[in-house]
Amino acid sequence: MRALLLLLLLLAAAPACAFRTADIRLYSLHKFSSITLTPAGSDVFLGDHRLGPSRVLVRGDKVALDGAHKAGPAKTLKVRAGSAGVWLSGPGLKRRLYTGELAFSQAKGRLKIINTLSLELYLAGVVTAEASDLSQPEAFKAQAVAARTYTRKHASSHTGEGYNLCDSTHCQFYTGAGGISARARLAVEATAGEILVYKGAPAETYYHSVCGGRTENMTYVWPYDHKPYLVSVKDGPTGRPYCSIAPRFKWKTKIYFTGLTRIARQAGWIVSDEEARGLRISAWGTPGRAAELEIYTQRRRIKVSATDFYHGIGRRAGWNAVRSSNFRLIQGGDHVLLDGVGNGHGVGLCQWGAEGMARKGFKYRDILRHYYPGTEIAHD
Ligand SMILES: [Zn+2]
Ligand SMILES: [Zn+2]
Repeated sequence: MRALLLLLLLLAAAPACAFRTADIRLYSLHKFSSITLTPAGSDVFLGDHRLGPSRVLVRGDKVALDGAHKAGPAKTLKVRAGSAGVWLSGPGLKRRLYTGELAFSQAKGRLKIINTLSLELYLAGVVTAEASDLSQPEAFKAQAVAARTYTRKHASSHTGEGYNLCDSTHCQFYTGAGGISARARLAVEATAGEILVYKGAPAETYYHSVCGGRTENMTYVWPYDHKPYLVSVKDGPTGRPYCSIAPRFKWKTKIYFTGLTRIARQAGWIVSDEEARGLRISAWGTPGRAAELEIYTQRRRIKVSATDFYHGIGRRAGWNAVRSSNFRLIQGGDHVLLDGVGNGHGVGLCQWGAEGMARKGFKYRDILRHYYPGTEIAHD
């Protein structure tokens, strides 16, 4: 009994100190059954065999390696990609460079690739992808701490499927080790091991591109448990918010009722014989942000949450059509004009606001304190 208790205690304590590598599912949104490997250096190995250009493919319920060296079929093939890494490519797959270890297996007849790499290398890749438009080192550091905390908090998102996080925006966008920016790598090194905590536990560090002048209270976007540090904060001086330096800070989109009818039918907001004839904001989140919209048809009004509206329009008309919920409506005869600011859900760190704060001389700790009030930096 005592031994079991001790074991349980050890198991419970393990993740906190052992989380130094991350298992990332690659090409997680794609379905494919073979992939090409092109080593970038001479230190790519399968067991003792140095690999040249190869292919990994599904064979029944196993996988096999084809090339100058052949292997399998096996349940899992593990390739050490070395420091230079290996390029992965295939029909419909973006060619990307990966380092660390790659484990190939199959699930439901499709290839499943899990990349095990150091947490810090993974973060440098995430920060490169997420902060590609920014330039200030302090903004990169704030992004690095937010991304490390997010990774830590969501490390068990996919444990049931045998890995920590996927490489899509479902978890965090990760496109491999190619093109990692020096700024991202330096920011990850300068903040090594730092995460944001609230009352001792890792915080939920959501982030977005441009808040538009005021960040959003999380409860208006995702109606789950309230987080005291994901509340609305004013993003700098009135009329000149920190993020106003963002390109396309302001946007305008005209939505014709014919187009709205089509989208609203596809989204299931209205039925097939209904026509959208008007749109208005029926509830507000924080000032300036729509929380709920109402579509008028010939016989009724339908309420749609601003989050559903944003996703519904984005999926069908492109993500640039409605860039945020921070807009006002100007009524036209056969259309409405959305006159908006900002980009993204508005919760947590405003990436362009971080850039603006850094340009004004704020340090990354000030930036994080500003967007996640009440949190503290701790060492993981
Ligand atoms: Zn995921
Ligand atoms: Zn902002």
